[in-house]
Amino acid sequence: MIESSAPSPGFTKDLLRWYGRHHRNLPWRETSDPYAIWVSEIMLQQTTVQTVIPYYERWLALFPDLGSLAQSPLKKVLKAWQGLGYYARARNMRQAAQVLIKRYDGRFPSRYEELRKLPGFGPYTTAAVLSLVFGLPYPVLDANVRRVVMRLARMSGGPNTKKDKLLMERLLGWIPRKKPGLFNQAMMELGALVCRPHGPLCLLCPVSSFCRAYEAGEQEVIPSPKKRSVTNIEAVVGIICKDGKYLIQKRPSSGLLADLWEFPGGKRDPGETLKEALRRELREELGVEVAAARPLITVRHAYTRFRVKLHAYECRLKSDPKTDPKRRRWVSLRAIRRYPFPSGSARIVDKLGTPINWGHNTNFRISRISPGNYVKNLNSETRIVSLF
Ligand code: SF4
Repeated sequence: MIESSAPSPGFTKDLLRWYGRHHRNLPWRETSDPYAIWVSEIMLQQTTVQTVIPYYERWLALFPDLGSLAQSPLKKVLKAWQGLGYYARARNMRQAAQVLIKRYDGRFPSRYEELRKLPGFGPYTTAAVLSLVFGLPYPVLDANVRRVVMRLARMSGGPNTKKDKLLMERLLGWIPRKKPGLFNQAMMELGALVCRPHGPLCLLCPVSSFCRAYEAGEQEVIPSPKKRSVTNIEAVVGIICKDGKYLIQKRPSSGLLADLWEFPGGKRDPGETLKEALRRELREELGVEVAAARPLITVRHAYTRFRVKLHAYECRLKSDPKTDPKRRRWVSLRAIRRYPFPSGSARIVDKLGTPINWGHNTNFRISRISPGNYVKNLNSETRIVSLF
């Protein structure tokens, strides 16, 4: 069911008044720099404000403008993004910065068609930049706005492309010609703070008198939840250490988690034990046999569509694998922290720990891996020792 909700001038007025009084003070709201606004809009997609703040600040310190982003190596850009997920966004930002420097003299174009052609500029980002930077009346439709409008219009069922078209038509009728950026921000803020996915605060809502779902008592069931199937994946990786250096390799340049680094390994096949999977994966990937392996740590990480359980094994190999400076390297414990890893692998890197003082014998390099257990590299041999 869709009910008409004619945009009343009172709606926008009440919304903007509420926003003026209650909006959060966020770093990207205190700047008029188009580049900084664009960075924040990309980071905020499917990520919470609290998570984004430190990333945003670090990013602007590392890449203060389009020029610095365009010139930075991809590895540095992906490392700065590590943990935010959807790594294609970081790669697209760098590519878009390169195009903007080359073709637009380092400025954002103000025409929808031109912006939309830039890497990573979908309808949301394009509308956000046009409204927030140039003050043009392009409405944004993110998850928060979608929920708010569906409730205001009492639009039952789940979101889909057809409904998005209807929502956009409504928003185009509502967005004011004056201060359209403020309207967009207010709609998003209302969705984040008041018209929340669960337990909307209708009694505090500045636009409750315009809300058809509230009137019908259906605010809790609109929109109906999306059924999302989540796949469980179990994978195993080898932590191979030689002369104090760890073997890591780069993922392909396209597809999932492209260009990030990881430890060699892969998915466990049905019926395989973890050790069997490890031996097979290292044979297939590195062309070497495992001499000995023992578990180091298991980490779990949830992505949007799958959940990964990642088992890391400390391994000794029968022979040295082939390396390739571009895709497979031995790197020191200090250097490994400069490489971009997917979140699950990054947690394993964290657990590799810092070297501890082992008295006068400098041939020993110890990394803490779990309470009481340490990886000990003596010359080229690696083994687990228990210190307690
Ligand atoms: Fe959302 Fe409730 Fe406000 Fe309607 S009245 S817009 S459901 S918070």
